[in-house]
Amino acid sequence: MKEFEVKTKVFFGTGSLNYLKEFQNRKIFIVTDPFMVKSGIIDRILQPLSEGSYTIFSDVVPDPPMELVVSGVSQVLEYRPDVMIALGGGSSIDAAKAIMQFAKQIGGYGKMLFVAIPTTSGTGSEVTSFAVITDKGKGVKYPLVSDELLPDIAILEPELVKSVPPAIVADTGLDVLTHAIEAYVSTKATDFSDAFAEKAVKLVFEYLLRSYQNSEDVIAKEKMHNASCLAGIAFNLASLGLNHAIAHNIGGKLHIPHGRTNAILLPYVIDYNANITGYSMREYSEAAKKYAKLANLIGIQGSNPRILVKAFIQEIEKIMHAMKMPRKLTDCKVSQEEVASVVDQIAIGALEDACYETNPRTITKEAIIELIKKVS
Ligand code: NAD
Repeated sequence: MKEFEVKTKVFFGTGSLNYLKEFQNRKIFIVTDPFMVKSGIIDRILQPLSEGSYTIFSDVVPDPPMELVVSGVSQVLEYRPDVMIALGGGSSIDAAKAIMQFAKQIGGYGKMLFVAIPTTSGTGSEVTSFAVITDKGKGVKYPLVSDELLPDIAILEPELVKSVPPAIVADTGLDVLTHAIEAYVSTKATDFSDAFAEKAVKLVFEYLLRSYQNSEDVIAKEKMHNASCLAGIAFNLASLGLNHAIAHNIGGKLHIPHGRTNAILLPYVIDYNANITGYSMREYSEAAKKYAKLANLIGIQGSNPRILVKAFIQEIEKIMHAMKMPRKLTDCKVSQEEVASVVDQIAIGALEDACYETNPRTITKEAIIELIKKVS
């Protein structure tokens, strides 16, 4: 028996921030990063809250570390809010999730209503039961997984993503694509998760470049914001795969932005999972057939999965090229020597990462090292 549920209530489209008026008489704890305060983006959520009482915790940094969560927990226990609002990219939403969880576990402070307002179109964290917290000392990113981390409400306001710089639009957009593709070929994929993943892939190929090229294109912004959420629902149902397993470990050790790392790995992971050998091959893996379906979905025609998978990879590379994305880890301010010094630990960590469990093809430590060498 299988089941399907989307617990988070999603408000989307221009004007969806108006829903915050519901919270005018509540005591609110806002988790965000310093940019949201400095840029004034936070005012857009404070305005509908009107005279409501709130406090702002704006210390979030990319790849939030454990120390940040500890500091947030002590502030929550002191302030004792009844609503938590996370405003920002995946880092702010994940930090809020962890703060909420540990306030409950350590401080016995019961569940608050949890509202997530993403300001990047990338992680889908607003609808997932995952949070990624970093142990800076060990250089390891830990995915926390629990349904208790699921936000009660997600607000997808496209106006909030207009200020995202093009390079971050590209990174986070490829994160969306990686979520959808990995969920689609996951060993836990179902008709339900496939439906969300397919729509997300279609939207990315139709709107990501437009969103990258024009920050005022509100339609493209809205479509990419929806795609991010749809991909989040897909991977929350079906989980992810090898791409994320490696990316989490590269992120923890080499501090390259999460979406960028996923993007660099994606063509190679698809190639590995599809496992298309020799030209006389007639039996294709299930993963190859599913990548081929995605190729068809975005309008690529071809007589067999070999042609379709290859063309699908090329389409991904084309969009990355158009957005001037780096193709190698060494294009991201890390040296060959730095990669070489941690490649072993990355491979071991990837095999232990929860995301690897649902990858459609098994892999050895040596093969992961080979794969990382190709992108170094
Ligand atoms: P982020 O939250 O780390 O933000 C990246 C940068 O973009 C920051 O400097 C931030 O200030 C800036 N930014 C955010 N919104 C902006 C806006 N509207 N305008 C201008 N600048 C803006 O980036 P992210 O890619 O959204 O999140 C990455 C984190 O999410 C990683 O830690 C990753 O591991 C995690 N993640 C979590 C999940 C999940 O399901 N919980 C899934 C994927 C990734």
